[in-house]
Amino acid sequence: MIKGQKSVKNGIENFLCPFTDMYISQGSNGSYSHKGIMANDVRGKVAGIRYPYYAPCTCKCLKLYPKTGQVMWQSVNKVRFANGRIDYATFMTAHDNTMDATVGLIVPQGNKLGNMGNKGFSNITGIHCHIEVSQSNDSTWTKNKYGNYHFNNEYDLDDCYFVDNTNILKGMSGNWKITGSTNIEINNNVSNESVDQILHIGSKVKFDGIFKVDILKSPISSNLFGCCQLTGCTLNDYKSENVKSYHWIPLDDFIEVDKFGSSINQDDIILGGESYVLNKNIYEVKAIDVKTNSAKLILNGKDIWIYSTFLYET
Ligand SMILES: [Zn+2]
Repeated sequence: MIKGQKSVKNGIENFLCPFTDMYISQGSNGSYSHKGIMANDVRGKVAGIRYPYYAPCTCKCLKLYPKTGQVMWQSVNKVRFANGRIDYATFMTAHDNTMDATVGLIVPQGNKLGNMGNKGFSNITGIHCHIEVSQSNDSTWTKNKYGNYHFNNEYDLDDCYFVDNTNILKGMSGNWKITGSTNIEINNNVSNESVDQILHIGSKVKFDGIFKVDILKSPISSNLFGCCQLTGCTLNDYKSENVKSYHWIPLDDFIEVDKFGSSINQDDIILGGESYVLNKNIYEVKAIDVKTNSAKLILNGKDIWIYSTFLYET
């Protein structure tokens, strides 16, 4: 992000990468001080310069650790993360030599949050900002078996922040996403106040968007399709039988549309790799799998797991 940048969709702030230039000098589970934790050390374009970083969302200062220039922040409201989750963000920044945060301070999204530095235990890795993010409002901070502190609900940073306007100088092969590439539309007819967008057992959900059918199960009469976007399986993986548990989706409740969502002139003949489909039904969530961030729905009498990113609560 750049100074002053804001990013809000449907009343929910998108959680942004706080850095304008991102050169990761130590990644998640790094061999030194990141063993067993999902933290990144980020420096700017030129090593040794105390570049500023900005508030990834509107956030409040919860705690200060002056000896190490560490600050614990928490979003004021729930935010949207790069993996599509909507929840509170609790995050730590460290090594700011000129730390001027105070407990209770609220910093609006886009305003300056601090400066990269080397306060604390960062003499080995030079001037940087250490950052780690929990996708929850749990601010518990515990020590792991390697002696490194971490949050309970940490996610890898590429699942946390959108990198709109961030120059990625060294991204450590992260799957960095921008807001435009993430399926984050929600139904404008539904009041944001009535739902929290966090799926639970019993939540009523709809499929969010138009999906491309990637393969059809043979024999075709079984009337099931696979979609790499919905299932996370690529066609090559499927063909080479690398997929252990492919979540086939029954076609019955889907209608054929063009890629803009119009059903006019569609012939209902579904072709793998070509056809687009849409599902307007409402389903009840029967189970949640936190590890894969999936929800179990019953489609046409079958148990189907769908990534919750592709669903929205109604
Ligand atoms: Zn670090």
